[in-house]
Amino acid sequence: MKSEGFRRLLRQVGSLTRQQRSQLSDALRPAVGLDKVCEAIDRARPAPLCCPACGNSRHYRHGIVRGLQRYRCRACSHTFSALSGTPLARLRHRAKWLDYLKELLDSRSVRTAAKLIGVHRNTSFRWRHRFLDAIRHDQPERLAGIAEADEMFLLESQKDPAS
Ligand SMILES: [Zn+2]
Repeated sequence: MKSEGFRRLLRQVGSLTRQQRSQLSDALRPAVGLDKVCEAIDRARPAPLCCPACGNSRHYRHGIVRGLQRYRCRACSHTFSALSGTPLARLRHRAKWLDYLKELLDSRSVRTAAKLIGVHRNTSFRWRHRFLDAIRHDQPERLAGIAEADEMFLLESQKDPAS
């Protein structure tokens, strides 16, 4: 969106009803969730990031896929992201991960978490095990960034837009 259009949109936000603000917030939530997840993944990536195919650390940026930076290896041309080779690599619906992680940490059941987040119970079951795998096998400092982003996300989503 062009900046003039965006400024106009921002001015209109002030005249929304409480219900409209709530609808707008719901509409933005998945995108905000995806941004937070991708920021956390990017912050938590190991340095140097090595190619999972050949181990070479020389690579260049190669586009963004579903919000996440991709890289191409200079040695073997393999493309990868900070998630390649981790238990989270091929999971979909990244925008819902932080919300799901919160339910997981709140000890919700597979079915309850699925209902709350709006994913199939089989997805909920798969995520639960991949997330636990990631937590178990990963270094704690790499998870700290995700937990921090989760906390920020919760704080932001709990703010009352009417106040
Ligand atoms: Zn490579």
